[in-house]
Amino acid sequence: MEHKIKVGILGATGSVGQKFIELLKDHPWFEIAELGASERSAGKKYIDATNWIMKNQLQPEVANIVVKECTPDYESKLIFSGLDSSVAEQIETDFANAGYFVISNSRNHRFDKDVPLMIPEVNADHLKLIDSQPYKGGIVTNPNCSTIGMILALKPLHDAFKIKKINVVTMQALSGGGYPGVPSLDIIDNVIPYIGGEEEKMETEPRKILGKLGDGEIIFNNDIKISAQCNRVAVIDGHLETVQVEFENKPTKEEIIEAWENFKGVPQELNLPFAPVKPVHYFSQNNLPQPKLQRDIENGMAASVGRLREDPLFHYKFIVLSHNTVRGAAGGTILNAELLKAQGYLDKIA
Ligand code: NAP
Repeated sequence: MEHKIKVGILGATGSVGQKFIELLKDHPWFEIAELGASERSAGKKYIDATNWIMKNQLQPEVANIVVKECTPDYESKLIFSGLDSSVAEQIETDFANAGYFVISNSRNHRFDKDVPLMIPEVNADHLKLIDSQPYKGGIVTNPNCSTIGMILALKPLHDAFKIKKINVVTMQALSGGGYPGVPSLDIIDNVIPYIGGEEEKMETEPRKILGKLGDGEIIFNNDIKISAQCNRVAVIDGHLETVQVEFENKPTKEEIIEAWENFKGVPQELNLPFAPVKPVHYFSQNNLPQPKLQRDIENGMAASVGRLREDPLFHYKFIVLSHNTVRGAAGGTILNAELLKAQGYLDKIA
């Protein structure tokens, strides 16, 4: 590429915002140009506005950027949003109206009729919805972090054997609740059996993601029954989920493993920079996958599955693990942006 596309990050001081900054270092197509957060942070150098909690050191060229307010007067036309959902709706709409392409991690626009809820390996064709949007720019959303891991594992099985029922129980990492998140005295020596709004998201988002592209909207897949229970556990990164699934055509265990092993989508065909070589990795060992061991597989962009066995209530049960702030948020957003660019949607802003 002759020049990189300038990116503005909204919510840059938060858990997802920091992950964007860490992941965008040396990205071949995108470069960080502007950072936005609340009025509490605006006007300060980024290093003074944030409590940097990433493993890698903050890039010096980013540390000195002065944080802006989240108003649509940015030079960068491509905007990655990690805004708190209490403010994301209006801010993201304002940016899209003003001609910016916004890729969001917040829940607010996920169910707008003309907004794609994207997992690039699963529903890349839904990007066409952008053509129906009323904005001068556009909005694309990332699904909920637990939904992304589960659907990456289920998509190849749904394509091959048609899913009828899903029961999922999550064990979700602390970083999923933002920074500083759950107070230490609440979570040490404990599991919290409630995450506000999460079960509803897991039960509804798959219907849109696995739906069909219609005329300016998605025809939801309402045939699949989904039940979700979500728990917060004392793990820093990586959501582990136990999944039970029933199919229209019950496959063999070998057929399921083969479907996972052969699964590839548009990002792999296009060889996008953030695309994992294999979106799903199967482990045959009884004690895998584990957050500490597998969350960083393929730089945190792939889901890991294991413990596949027959189930007395449904057809099969298995475990899926995915990195919530990488594949489930910042990395997923970057992959969405790469897909937008590869398919020409960013030509007018590049
Ligand atoms: P977070 O750590 O709480 O960060 C929130 C960000 O929003 C901060 O940068 C904060 O800036 C900014 N903000 C708050 N109020 C604002 C205002 N009035 N105007 C402008 N900016 C404001 O949250 P997070 O975990 O990064 O999550 C960000 C979004 O992504 C949420 O909608 C969340 O649901 C979603 N998400 C998170 C994950 C995850 O794994 N964490 C995964 C998927 C999706 P200040 O520092 O200045 O307050």
